[in-house]
Amino acid sequence: MTVTRFAPSPTGYLHVGNLRTALFNWLIARAQGGTFILRLDDTDPERSKPEYADAIKEDLEWLGLTWDRVETQSSRLDRYEAAAEELRARGRFYEAFETPTELDLKRKKQLNMGRPPVYDRAALALSEDDKAKLRAERGQGHWRFKLDQTRIEWDDGILGPVSIDAASVSDPVLIRADGQFLYTLASVCDDIDYGITHVVRGSDHVTNTGTQIQIISALGGTVPSFAHHSLLTGPQGEALSKRLGTLSLRDLRDQGVEPMALLSHMARLGSSQPVDLRETLDEVIAGFDLATFGAAPTKFDVKDLFPLTAHALAHRPYPQVAGYLSALGVPDAIAEAFWLVARDNITTLKGLDAWWVLCRDGATPLIAPEDAEMVSIAFGLLPEPPYAADSWKDWTAAVKEATGRKGKGLFMPLRKALTGMDHGPDMAALMPLLQKVNR
Ligand code: GLU
Repeated sequence: MTVTRFAPSPTGYLHVGNLRTALFNWLIARAQGGTFILRLDDTDPERSKPEYADAIKEDLEWLGLTWDRVETQSSRLDRYEAAAEELRARGRFYEAFETPTELDLKRKKQLNMGRPPVYDRAALALSEDDKAKLRAERGQGHWRFKLDQTRIEWDDGILGPVSIDAASVSDPVLIRADGQFLYTLASVCDDIDYGITHVVRGSDHVTNTGTQIQIISALGGTVPSFAHHSLLTGPQGEALSKRLGTLSLRDLRDQGVEPMALLSHMARLGSSQPVDLRETLDEVIAGFDLATFGAAPTKFDVKDLFPLTAHALAHRPYPQVAGYLSALGVPDAIAEAFWLVARDNITTLKGLDAWWVLCRDGATPLIAPEDAEMVSIAFGLLPEPPYAADSWKDWTAAVKEATGRKGKGLFMPLRKALTGMDHGPDMAALMPLLQKVNR
């Protein structure tokens, strides 16, 4: 049974980088008929906010990435305490008292000597008396997991074989001096207890994975399959981390990006397969293959989402937008015809608003000086709306006859006179939708 999880911290809004993680884990679970857990990593009581947890759910729902259950870390502190006890009992957990400044100094010294800045395990040499003294002076210490200094190896679903020398990694702190359990311990307990079989996450977690594999083993758990996707960069390869705030899923939704456009893009970006618009989540599931993703940083350009969005809309059948059109005020009698004309001329659904205003209120005519006389004659030949399927053909024929104009010199000035624009839908199809013409 495949079980995956998406484990955001509810300390902010989801962005495109998080979406990759969510989507890959969701796709793996759904492709196998498995379980997908939404896990809220809320062990930090100051930064975690219920409104962010709600926003995360709302964003996933918008995309159709449904979860089978929600778990929260803040409700499992007893479990993490029990795991800490277990690690103590096995001699894999030790209390240390260095302040952040002292640790920083140690790191600087090591770097100056050309050594990797790995915690020197000084606390392991403390006697019970030393610790009691330090506790009296400094309060409770923090707790570190004692790594087994061997090589840690796993076959990564994206990176291939990975090997980390545990001696080059600091013993991770799992409990802070103020008693807060850190993500690494909580995550390991959850992954064990929920029977997580696959973990996909960003490559910034590779070292974490090394230490977590040892903690899972120390607690007698089964190590899941790990895969680490590359980090997203901006279009020029620049770090995206600072800009991710502006690439939140809710911003993209506000900009009119369509869910299937975003999902189709993210399910392929960074893989050897081309990005194609998929119309349903089932198609995305069927076309997904983790093994086709590469380790190199992946360029993400928000602009790429708009052609896909336009494409998605151009294929959308009327019933799926009937509600939107009705809310916009398009009368039922012409709503379908309006959609079929407008859908090829929009980038996002919001683009419909302008087309509807044009149909309802008419445009300010755009008339070049050299066309003024001809347009004035044309307006004289134009009856009032409503128009029918033949109206454009009949009107342009009458104008041609009266002015001698033909071809582009006939059609373009008339389009500009009726729509105020030099581009847009087929005029024969648009005209029956015009409720008003300004002359
Ligand atoms: N809360 C962690 C994060 O957002 C989860 C990482 C994981 O998938 O284990 O980075």
